[in-house]
Amino acid sequence: MNVKPLTVVTVLAAIVGALAPVALSAYLAREEATRTEKDRALFYALDVLERSEAVTDQIDIGIKRLVASHESNPCSASSQALMKEIDLSSSYIQAIGHIAANRILCSSLGAELDGQDLGPVDMVRPSGVRLWLNVRFPFAKDVGFLAVERDGFVAIVHKNLPIDTTTHIKGAALATIAYPEARVITGSGHIESKWIQAVAREPKAFIDEKYVVAVAAPRKYFIGAICALPIAELDRRIYANSLVTIPAGLLASLLLAWAIFQIAQARTAMPAVIKCALKRREFFLEYQPLVELSTGKWMGAEALIRWRRMKGEVVKPDVFIPVAEESGLIQQVSQYVVDEVAAEAGELFRRFPDFHIGINLAAADLHDDGTVLMLRKLVEQTGAHPSCIVIEATERSFTDHNRASDVIARLRSEGFPVAIDDFGTGYSSLSYLERIKFNYLKIDKSFVDTLNTDAPTSEVILHIISMAKSLNIEMIAEGVETEQQAQFLRERGVQYAQGWLYGRPMPLSRLLHTLQAHDASSEARDESNRRIHQ
Ligand code: C2E
Ligand code: CA
Ligand code: CA
Repeated sequence: MNVKPLTVVTVLAAIVGALAPVALSAYLAREEATRTEKDRALFYALDVLERSEAVTDQIDIGIKRLVASHESNPCSASSQALMKEIDLSSSYIQAIGHIAANRILCSSLGAELDGQDLGPVDMVRPSGVRLWLNVRFPFAKDVGFLAVERDGFVAIVHKNLPIDTTTHIKGAALATIAYPEARVITGSGHIESKWIQAVAREPKAFIDEKYVVAVAAPRKYFIGAICALPIAELDRRIYANSLVTIPAGLLASLLLAWAIFQIAQARTAMPAVIKCALKRREFFLEYQPLVELSTGKWMGAEALIRWRRMKGEVVKPDVFIPVAEESGLIQQVSQYVVDEVAAEAGELFRRFPDFHIGINLAAADLHDDGTVLMLRKLVEQTGAHPSCIVIEATERSFTDHNRASDVIARLRSEGFPVAIDDFGTGYSSLSYLERIKFNYLKIDKSFVDTLNTDAPTSEVILHIISMAKSLNIEMIAEGVETEQQAQFLRERGVQYAQGWLYGRPMPLSRLLHTLQAHDASSEARDESNRRIHQ
């Protein structure tokens, strides 16, 4: 099987291109899920931090009040009354009392706690605050308490209070951490020591193998917080997101694949369609007038091909001419154009023997001797003088200088003038200008457009004009749309112009009609001048 490498590349590009939306939707599902899960972990870590700060606030205020109020006896009746008041008015504190040698001597709970030994201290904070992390009392054996002591007073809180945030997530871990000691104060679930070390200035979240971890840095009390959510939660969320994004991605992929297929099919089918259109004679010509800038007189017209398909749809030459060139059909198109001119322009040449018709030729025409015969025949059929058939050849057709220059030399020797079309757009070296002699240079519309603008290329047209002058080639400016452009070109010595300012492409009948009307009015003018001078 003969498969062109280009086709394989195109198919591969189409597959990769079409799969892109699916890949993108999978990526988006993961990204969105990761972001949400990290946000959730951060939310819990910050919540734990806030709770532990609120608990610490209450303990701090309570102990400060007791220290300030007691005189010599911390267990005086008034001090114990204050303990009760603090306990009742603080939402987090379970009990508050006086302690000496790790033993509670009196408290807001009265006789219940008196004489309780808290045992050895678990942690002494840099501030001097001492902590017992898991105290058990005989009256509530199943509950662990946190005891915080400062200046002889101790506050008792439920150990799980700071981490009592409702995550409802199986396998989630929460903890409050003492910094700089980097030790867990209260915690539930599995906490890795590297997460504790990962504390930063800002709260941050990251993925560590089996967990999405968030660390809230200490703000007020050298206490930080950690939340770790099992990775299964993230996977579940990715899956849920994928259920939405993947079908959308698949749909986009299918649409894209369909579009790529349609375009590819249209491109490969186009040559066959052009061939068929040539047979069915779906093409026709329009003629755009070309004027002498100094007088405004119509000197000639460029034949421009038009394609109206059977269903009435119009295809632009910019679309089908390149396809015809690539697929080797362009010479058939040129023959078609010449045949059309032959069939319809006879009367024009009879009535206006000096009028020019410009015909666009392609590289393939300029590489083929048959082109000379084709144009010779046109001259015979229409009775036109060869000097009235102007050949328009784009810069692109001079890639093979030698072959093009032979055919052009023969055309010129037979009397056909030759114009370089779209001058300045071909990116080719200008060396062909020395080898091939031209009659006209058509300044491309893109340069005319820059006139009277600040475009950086607006100077280029001046160089083109001075070059044409030094080569002694007459100039035709294309795409002239305003009187200012015409004025500029006239002042710089450009001889001819073509553009909407003077006339859009039109059917031959209208061209002929307008020429006759011009003719009649100038004859009338001549007649009246003759009478005046008699
Ligand atoms: P081109 O040879 O440069 O033809 C001039 C193009 O500029 C024409 O477009 C014309 O309609 C357009 N034009 C003229 N004056 C103005 C103006 O003032 N403003 C604007 N905006 N446009 C203006 P068209 O007819 O669409 O042709 C496009 C191109 O297709 C032609 O460019 C030529 O390269 C090619 N083409 C057209 N007919 C033939 C043909 O019979 N044979 C070959 N080989 N190529 C052709
Ligand atoms: Ca042209
Ligand atoms: Ca042109």
